Order: sequence, then structure tokens, then C-alpha cells
Amino acid sequence: MADVLKRIPVREQDAKERATNFEEVCYGYNKEEAMEEAARCLNCKNAKCIEGCPVSINIPGFISQVKEGNIEEAYKVIGESSALPAICGRVCPQESQCECKCIRGIKGDPVSIGKLERFVADYALENDIKPVKAEKTNGHKVAVIGSGPSGLTCAGDLAKLGYEVTVFEALHELGGVLVYGIPEFRLPKHKVVKKEIEKVKELGVKFETNVVIGKSTTIDQLMEEEDFEAVFIGSGAGLPMFMGIPGETANGVFSANEYLTRSNLMKAFDDSYDTPIVAGKKVAVVGGGNVAMDAARTALRLGAEVHIVYRRSEAELPARVEEVHHAKEEGVIFDLLTNPKEILVDDNGWVKGMKVIKMELGEPDASGRRRPVEVPGSEYEIELDTVIMSLGTSPNPLIASTTKGLETNRRKCIVAEEENGQTSKAAVFAGGDAVTGAATVILAMGAGKAGAKGIHELLSK
Ligand SMILES: Cc1cc2nc3c(=O)[nH]c(=O)nc-3n(C[C@H](O)[C@H](O)[C@H](O)COP(=O)(O)OP(=O)(O)OC[C@H]3O[C@@H](n4cnc5c(N)ncnc54)[C@H](O)[C@@H]3O)c2cc1C
Ligand code: SF4
Repeated sequence: MADVLKRIPVREQDAKERATNFEEVCYGYNKEEAMEEAARCLNCKNAKCIEGCPVSINIPGFISQVKEGNIEEAYKVIGESSALPAICGRVCPQESQCECKCIRGIKGDPVSIGKLERFVADYALENDIKPVKAEKTNGHKVAVIGSGPSGLTCAGDLAKLGYEVTVFEALHELGGVLVYGIPEFRLPKHKVVKKEIEKVKELGVKFETNVVIGKSTTIDQLMEEEDFEAVFIGSGAGLPMFMGIPGETANGVFSANEYLTRSNLMKAFDDSYDTPIVAGKKVAVVGGGNVAMDAARTALRLGAEVHIVYRRSEAELPARVEEVHHAKEEGVIFDLLTNPKEILVDDNGWVKGMKVIKMELGEPDASGRRRPVEVPGSEYEIELDTVIMSLGTSPNPLIASTTKGLETNRRKCIVAEEENGQTSKAAVFAGGDAVTGAATVILAMGAGKAGAKGIHELLSK
């Protein structure tokens, strides 16, 4: 008899082996393991886990179907609330959402809600279980800008209600951060992302790629000349930030966005594709979030010795616990309480090293985190050939600057109501990272849902 206090472990690729390939790290549960893990759920009446889920999936509802082996039924329960479960099951920070509220977690391990969601969603993809389409369209035309999780969710929800939805995407591939940001070894592109997007297409949503709203056409033109009655902006926060230290424009300095886009979207890690990448022998990634972990683990797989340079301590690392754990297992070195002062450049304009300073934690700042302060006289130099800056991103101002009457805030984020996505401009809605700044997949999906609700309320009057 298994110990009910412990979760059923999930199978993973060996750390040494996976550090040299781009295949998925986590293999996920098989049916037997999923049913055994599902049996640990207490089916709580007042289920706290649901409160922890930003789109309120009926968690005990789907888990009780898994327990009985009814996987298709479980998928239907999840589908009532989430359009991209195979993605969320892989990338959501469950440890700070549903799983941290799970009653089982008080005495032992919480139920592996994320891994169960992933199992159910993968089963649906493998067995081609289709979402339910609207019987007929209602004749209303809606434009969605951006094909990331917020745009896909908004488009899918509206299509189910019968709207004629067109998604406009600037890049040549659909998926936003899911294709250009999060690497293959965490989120497979063909097996998972493409297939989940196929399901949105099957609902009747049209997609136009290589269309940059604000350049190719504008929101005002879409509404005035192409008869779109409402617009949802889900354009994300893809503009990278830099530190402003000397040497930052040297060859060999990348933003994490560029590095990951080359590797993920353009497949630069595979020699049979045209886009090149400077792999680097010794790489420093500056930052401690999910994006930094992804860039570090990518550089490692391209053959480099990789250091994470982060100015706070391990406890403050903003990345998911699982990602930090995986990065360490694979051999990423953590230079904590360390901050760059200058990038050292050789006579040919290439990075040759970085001057850094040691930090210590002082008093808590406005966010409640202890503020890192420099230790006087503790500067030293490290030798490097590549630096990847992963300090966060902000929304691109292009859409706001080309749309009449669209209000933004100090951080360049579009101002929109949380419950329905309404912006300062009539019939224009927004959500996801474009509104909040860089956040999470599930919050972007929640905002896409809210936007669809707002648009439906407006157009069904
Ligand atoms: C490397 C990386 C790792 C991450 N890891 C995680 C994780 O593990 N878990 C998690 O929950 N979150 C993670 N995130 C955050 C998460 O991916 C984002 O919060 C989420 O994708 C935001 O969704 P979105 O729909 O708002 O925007 P995006 O996913 O950014 O999509 C916006 C889309 O709009 C398009 N677009 C932009 N401007 C225009 C325009 N003018 N015209 C037409 N199209 C336009 C873009 O090309 C893009 O496709 C990660 C982010 C990155 C970068
Ligand atoms: S809180 Fe945990 S045990 Fe209770 S219903 Fe949710 S997953 Fe099951």
C-alpha cells in the first residue's frame, strides 16, 4: 500500500543526459500512476484548491473522474474553465496556486494537481478529443491582437459563443511566449503547443500571421474600415530591459528574449536551420526569474559553462522552485548576492568578462523583500564570452502610440478593468501581460476569459 502522505513521483529524463539535449525533461504520469495519485484527493466539500486556481477549475471534480479512470470526462470538466490545460499543467506555478492550498499539504505532500491536469490534457491530445463548437455564428466580428495565452483564450471563448473571430499575430508562428520564450525542454512545440492551438482553430477562429498592428494596420482602421465591432488586445510584454552599465552594447551581450527567440522560434540549436546563435563557452545570465532559468538551461544545452548572477539570495529567486531545482541538477552554477557593475570588452568589441560586486541583504523594501546593498570594496572580475540580460520586460508602446484614446500607465501598460478587460476606448478590451506587465500564463488566460465576457456583454445587448 502506497504512503498516502507522499505524492506519486513523476518520471524524468536523467539530469546528465538531458543537459545535452532539448527533449522534454518531465515525462509525466501514465494512466496507472495518475489514477493512484488521484486516489489521494479527499474530494473536499469546500475545496480550497479551487480558490488557488486563477481560472477556478473544478479540481476535485476532474480528479474524481481520473480516479475512476474516466479521462475523457475529466477533460470535459477541465475544459469548462481552461482552454490550454496541456500548457498550464506544465508551466503554471502550482506550488503557489492550487497545490499550496491543498488540504493534503498540511500533513504531507499536496496532491499533484498540475501533473494530473497535464496527464488528462495529453490524453485528450493523443486521442484527438475535440472541443465543442458553436452551432452557428452570430454575425458579430471581433479582432484579437496577439496569439499568446490571453489572445487564444479570448478568441476560443468568443468562438464558442458564435462570434466570428480573427487573431492578428506579428510573428510568423502562433503562440506568443509559448513558442518563442519557453523552451522545448519544458514545453514541446509540436506535441503540445501546436496541437492546443489546432483546437482553437477547430472552434472556427481565423488566424493571420505576419501582421503587426500599429504598422501593417491600426486598431482604428480595423474598426472603421474592416467592420470589427470590438477588439481585444493581448499583445504581451515583449520589450526587454537592460541595466545601463558600461559595455552593455558589446558583441556577445544578448537580451534573454533574443537568445530564446533564436533558439526556440528559429531553432538555432539545430544546425539544419539557417538562424545562427553564439553558443558561448562561459556564459553569465543576469537575473533570477523563469526567463533567466530558461536562458541558462538553453546555454547549457548548447555546451557552455553557465552562471546565474543574481543580486539577492536563493530564498528571493522569483523563478519556480521546480525550475531552479532542475537547473541545479543539470549543472547551472548560482552566483548569488552578486551584481554586475561593468561588462569588460576586448579590442575587437567582444565580451571578455564582467566586473561584479558582492551584495548583502539590508532592510525590507516597499515590496517586503530585503533590499540588496553593495559590500564596499568587494568588486572582482570574472572571465566570460557571453552575457544574457534577463532583467524583465515591459509592453511594447507601438499599439498604445497608434490607437486614439487608449490610456496607458507609468509602466507603459494598457489600463483595463480587471473584471471585463474594458480599456479607456469604447469597444476596445485588453488583458494579459500587456495590462499587468510580465506575469504568468494562467493569469493571461484568466484575463482573456474576462475580455471575452466583456465583449459578449457589449455585443449581445
Ligand atoms: C522565457 C519565459 C519563460 C516563462 N515561463 C513561465 C512559466 O514557467 N510559467 C508561467 O506561468 N509563465 C511563464 N512566463 C510568462 C508567460 O509566458 C506570460 O505571462 C504569458 O505568455 C503572457 O501571455 P500574453 O497572451 O499576455 O502575451 P504573450 O505570450 O507575450 O503573447 C503576445 C503576442 O502578441 C504578439 N504581438 C505583440 N505586439 C503585436 C502587434 N503590434 N501586432 C500583432 N501581434 C503582436 C506577440 O508577437 C505575441 O505572440 C514565461 C515568460 C518567458 C518570456
Ligand atoms: S484541496 Fe487537495 S485534497 Fe482537497 S479537493 Fe483539492 S486537491 Fe483534493
